[in-house]
Amino acid sequence: MKQVKRETLQQRAKVIWFTGLSGAGKSTLANELGKKLLDKSFLCTLLDGDSIRKGVNFDLGYNESDRKENIRRVSEISKLFIDTGVIVISAFISPTEEIRNLAKEIIGKDNFIEIFVNTPLDVCEKRDVKGLYKKARQGDLKNFTGISSPFEPPLNSEINLDTNNKNVAECVDEIWDLVWSQIALLPKDQLAV
Ligand code: ADP
Repeated sequence: MKQVKRETLQQRAKVIWFTGLSGAGKSTLANELGKKLLDKSFLCTLLDGDSIRKGVNFDLGYNESDRKENIRRVSEISKLFIDTGVIVISAFISPTEEIRNLAKEIIGKDNFIEIFVNTPLDVCEKRDVKGLYKKARQGDLKNFTGISSPFEPPLNSEINLDTNNKNVAECVDEIWDLVWSQIALLPKDQLAV
């Protein structure tokens, strides 16, 4: 059955998992990578922390156990997609080794490609895309990652992206170089352009 889906969709389903601080660039890169995969005729879906927390996980907050439950549910959803043959691009802070290991365990190590969007806290805070760092510094947001809640840099990510010194296109190229051979059945020169 798995083989049939693979042959039908001409792809190996994997989860491409972005981890990093708020404002690191996870959603931006996940979106751009999604466009690139669709351009090349790969069927993929995007799971993003902000939208998942408005829908399926609307009932969860940011304490340790809710963060874990957030990732547990997302991982189970990701698994359903890969069982269907669809590539998943996931953008979640997923701040601790324990939480990322939980995701890896549910999804399966061989299906999990971990990308660390390694943007330093001061850069994320300067960007402050959603104004959340300001609120956290003022004490208006509890359990904010990097300020009042821990972020443990991943130890085993397949890519460590320096978004402070590389632009979005360069980061996407770096990701593509790593992922294409893991998701494609065809050689690179036969993929849609
Ligand atoms: P996150 O999803 O991690 O919270 P966002 O993607 O929402 O972060 O925001 C990241 C911000 O950083 C965006 O405004 C984006 O344009 C900017 N940025 C600058 N350089 C990069 C880069 N190389 N990769 C990704 N984002 C970048």
